[in-house]
Amino acid sequence: MILKIALDTPLRRVFDYLPPEKPHPNPLKAGVRVRVPFGRRQLIGVLVGIADDSALPDGKLKVALEILDSDPVFDTVTLELLCWAADYYHHAIGEVIAAALPAALRAGELAEERVELWSLSEAGLHQYRAQAQRLGPRQRALLTALALHGPATLGLLGVACRRAQLAQLAKRGWAVANVETPQPVRVVQRPSEVTLTPEQARAVDAIRDSHGRFAAHLLYGVTGSGKTEVYLRTIAGVLDNGGQALVLVPEIALTPQLVERFRQRFSAGIVVLHSGLAATLRRDAWRSAHRGLARIIIGTRSAVFTSMPHLKLIVVDEEHDASYKQHEGFRYSARDLAVWRAQRAKIPIVLGSATPSLETLDNAAQGRYAKWLLPQRPGAARPPRTGLVDLRKHACEQGLSRPALEAIGRHLHAGGQAIVFLNRRGYAPALFCNACGWVAACAHCDARMTLHRRAGQLRCHHCGAVAAVPSACANCALPLSPVGQGTERVEETLARLFPGAGLARLDRDTTAGRGAMEALLHRVHSGTARILVGTQMLTKGHHFPDVSLVLILDADQGLFASDFRATERLAQTIIQVAGRAGRGERPGEVIIQTAFPEHPLLTRLITAGYEGFAEIALEERRAAEWPPYSRLAMLRAEARSESQLDQFLTSAAACGARLADSAIQVLGPAQALIARRADHYRAHVLIEAPARRALKRFLTQWLPAVEALPAPSGIRWSVDVDPLEID
Ligand code: ADP
Ligand code: ZN
Ligand code: ZN
Repeated sequence: MILKIALDTPLRRVFDYLPPEKPHPNPLKAGVRVRVPFGRRQLIGVLVGIADDSALPDGKLKVALEILDSDPVFDTVTLELLCWAADYYHHAIGEVIAAALPAALRAGELAEERVELWSLSEAGLHQYRAQAQRLGPRQRALLTALALHGPATLGLLGVACRRAQLAQLAKRGWAVANVETPQPVRVVQRPSEVTLTPEQARAVDAIRDSHGRFAAHLLYGVTGSGKTEVYLRTIAGVLDNGGQALVLVPEIALTPQLVERFRQRFSAGIVVLHSGLAATLRRDAWRSAHRGLARIIIGTRSAVFTSMPHLKLIVVDEEHDASYKQHEGFRYSARDLAVWRAQRAKIPIVLGSATPSLETLDNAAQGRYAKWLLPQRPGAARPPRTGLVDLRKHACEQGLSRPALEAIGRHLHAGGQAIVFLNRRGYAPALFCNACGWVAACAHCDARMTLHRRAGQLRCHHCGAVAAVPSACANCALPLSPVGQGTERVEETLARLFPGAGLARLDRDTTAGRGAMEALLHRVHSGTARILVGTQMLTKGHHFPDVSLVLILDADQGLFASDFRATERLAQTIIQVAGRAGRGERPGEVIIQTAFPEHPLLTRLITAGYEGFAEIALEERRAAEWPPYSRLAMLRAEARSESQLDQFLTSAAACGARLADSAIQVLGPAQALIARRADHYRAHVLIEAPARRALKRFLTQWLPAVEALPAPSGIRWSVDVDPLEID
C-alpha cells in the first residue's frame, strides 16, 4: 500500500510514502493528516489517495511516521474541491491544501480537540436580566452575546468578544468556561418583519424547491432591492432541514451591516471567516464549521474551502466583484469554485448582484442558471435620471465641467448631498515641464509618479516608491506644473468653489488610519460634509440616504483600455456608483463626463441600463472570441534582465506552439502594460482555447515543458487560468 501525500511545498505533485510501521486502528481515509520525513525535516501532510504501487522503486520509498487523525480533516466534497482546484489552476496541491487549514492544524494540533465553551453563570444571568442598564456598552454586549449564544466558543460568540474580556467576566463570577466537546446549538430564528414582494417570493420558492440538487440561481437586483432578505429566507429553510449555509462576500470590512442582519435574524451558529482573523479565532471557527456546529459561515473568498459536512446552500453576494479572484500565488476564483462545489455537493447556489458578470449573464441566457429579477427597491424611489456631459463642448475647471458644477450647486441648494467619483487618488497623475516636456517618472518602473501634494511627495502607484517633489524641471530648471486630476485636487477645487459645503474624501490615502473611515462616513451621515469625493471605495456597500447627485468625472479611462474586460468593469462601476444616488426620498441624478458621448457602450448603458449594455457587450465578446466564448490562461513572467525574460518567454511560446493543435492560440510574448515594475521587466504569453477542456488538456502538456525549460535563476513565472486582467 502506497500513501499519496500532499505536502506544503511548491512542487506540483504528491509524494509517495509507505504506511507507518505501527498500524493505525482505523481504516485509512483520504483527508487525514500524516507526519512524514522530508529531507532532514518532518512535515505534516494530508493523505489524498492510496495506491497499489509507486513510480519510485521500493528501496527509495520512505516510511510515514504517524497518522494524526482517525477521521478526515475535510469533508469529502471539500477535499475533492481542493484537489480539483489545484489541478484546474495548475497550482501545487500541497500549498492549496495547506492554505485551507488553520495554522494550528497544519502544525499538528488535534482537529477534534475539546474547546472552551463560554456561558453565563447564575450571577451573570442575573446581571444580564436585572442590571444590564448599569453596565458599560462593552460589558453589556458581552453579556448579551453570552446570553444569546452560550455555551459557545469564542468564534461563535462573534467579533466583539475577546478572550481577555471574557476572562475578566469569569473573574467577577459572571461567566464560566467549560472545556468540553461542543454540542450543536439550537438556532432560534427571529421572524422577519417584511412581507416578501411577489418577485422575492418567487425567487425564495424556486431556491427552496431546488433543495437537495444542484441548481444555480442568479439573483439580479440593484442594491436595496431585497436580495439579502431572499438570502435570509432561503437560509432559514436550510437551517430547518439541519443544514449549513456558506455566504461568500467580497470584503468583510465593507459588509458589517450584512453580518449584523444575519446575527439579528438567527440567534446562534454564525461564524465569520476572513483573512484578518486572529489565528485562534480562525481555528475555532474552522473547527465549528467542520464539525457542523456552526450553521452559517460568512466569509471572504478563501472561505469557499471551509470544511462543512452538512452544507446545503451557497450564497455568493456581489458575484461580479473582482476580489473573488486571488491575484497572487494560488490564483483561483472563489465564485467559480463555489459553483463547482455546489455542483459536486448537489446543492443550490445563489449568485447575487446588481451588475452580474458577463459570464454569469451568459450562463443565465444559455439556461444553465435560473435568473430572478428584483426590479426595484420595495416602495422605492424612481431610478435616477442619467445624463452625459460632452467634455469637448464644455470648458472645464480642473476637470469639472460647467454643467457638472451647476448641478452640484443645484443639489446642494435643494438640501441634497453630492458624490464626485474619480478612480484616481493623489493630487495629479503627472508632474510636467511645459517648456521641454520632461515628466517626473519612477526610477524603478515604466510609469509616472503621482503628485501627492498634501503629503509633499511624489509616489509611484505601481511599486510604492516615494520621492521628494522637485522644485524645478530636472532638464531645463523651469517650473513644473501638475497635469490632470486626482481625488486630492478635485477635493481642493470643490472646497474652493463651494465654501461651506464641507468636503469629505474617501480613498486609500484618507482611510489608511485606524477609525479614519468611520470618522469620514460619520461626517457624511451627519451632514457636516455635503460633497463626497472618492475612488472605487465609494461603490461598495455604503448607504447615503441624502445623496441626490452622483458625478462621474472620467468615464473614458475604461472605454479604450486594451483589456477586454475594461468596458464591463466600467459599466459595473458606473451602475454601482450611480446606485448611490436617490436612495432616500430625494430623486436622484447621475452625470457622466466624457469626451466620447456617442460611444455605443456608453449610450447603450444610459438608454438600456446594465442589461442592455451586457447584451451588446456579450455580442462583442462573441465576435472577438473572448470569454465566455473562449477560455484564457496567462503565463506571466518577470526578471531583472530584459533579454533573459524575452528569451524565456520566447522559448515558452515556441514550445507552446509545437504542442498546440489548431484550436489553441499561443499569443505573445507581449509586454505588460507597465513593462517594468519595481526594477523587474514583465511580459506574458496568452493562451486562448475554445473551451475549458481544450485549455486544460493543453496546459497539462505545456506547463511541465515550461518547467523543464532552462530558466535563468532570476526568472519568476506563474500561470493564471481564467485571468481577470490581461495586462
Ligand atoms: P439588498 O440585499 O438587495 O441590498 P436588502 O435585502 O438589504 O436588499 O433590502 C433593502 C431594505 O429593504 C432592507 O432594509 C430590507 O429590510 C427592506 N426590504 C427587503 N425586502 C422587503 C420587502 N419585501 N418589503 C419591505 N421592505 C423590504
Ligand atoms: Zn523642462
Ligand atoms: Zn515605481
